[in-house]
Amino acid sequence: MDPRDELRELIAEAAERLRFCRELGLTDLGGAPVLSSTAEELPRTPTPEEGRKMAKKEKAAPAAESLFGDLAAPPVEEQHGAESLDDIRADMGDCHRCKLWQTRTQLVFGEGSARAELMFVGEAPGADEDMSGRPFVGRAGQLLNKMVEAIGMKREGVYIANVIKSRPPGNRDPEKDEIQACIPFLFRQIAAVKPRLIVTLGNPATQELLGTKTGISKMRGQLLDYPRLPGVKVLPTFHPAYLLRSPDKKREAWEDLKKVRAFLQGEPQ
Ligand code: URA
Repeated sequence: MDPRDELRELIAEAAERLRFCRELGLTDLGGAPVLSSTAEELPRTPTPEEGRKMAKKEKAAPAAESLFGDLAAPPVEEQHGAESLDDIRADMGDCHRCKLWQTRTQLVFGEGSARAELMFVGEAPGADEDMSGRPFVGRAGQLLNKMVEAIGMKREGVYIANVIKSRPPGNRDPEKDEIQACIPFLFRQIAAVKPRLIVTLGNPATQELLGTKTGISKMRGQLLDYPRLPGVKVLPTFHPAYLLRSPDKKREAWEDLKKVRAFLQGEPQ
């Protein structure tokens, strides 16, 4: 790439981060270096320090899998590399597994890098997503893009999906049977991508992935284990649609995003 184009791109990225921070009333970006912009450029292997810590931890406490054998192991279809995102999409087909097929325009499977280190999980497609077939493209999506860019990444470098893949009529909350029918596909997407970190956006994503009933205000900002896949972490934060309605919560969201950035950079948590 022409160095001038590269410089222009860098300036545009920095401006995007600053805009988001200004929106939050913040001037402090933490002084941390900007992350590389695509997941492929980020190291997937642990740093030597992480490796030492992991070895120490394993010595001190045997992993649950070794204590309980197959009982604690994830189902075969959730092991990394067992199937591709294309396989999963093909399996979904023109899904009629719940009633939402009758009212949706199209299914919104998810998009992004198949090798993303960072994944975002929302609730359900809204009107814009239903029309376009892509997750998070409406107003909440614009804010999500800013959140991604604020931590020095690009939307194309992360993976974005939802708990359910079809829009509930009038954007009502997803119902239990709809979640039950659809969430196995999200679990399989997570297993195929195997991100280092999943940021859950709002209550349904947080509660479904962590198997909790605790609300997002209590859960947010914590770095937790994803129970279905060893080595994958979950960090809940507010849904961008909620942040649009409650801008005073953006400061807390920014605190969460700084944790995301620190974790991906391998900083001790
Ligand atoms: N809200 C969500 O939870 N997901 C989308 O894709 C869009 C809005």
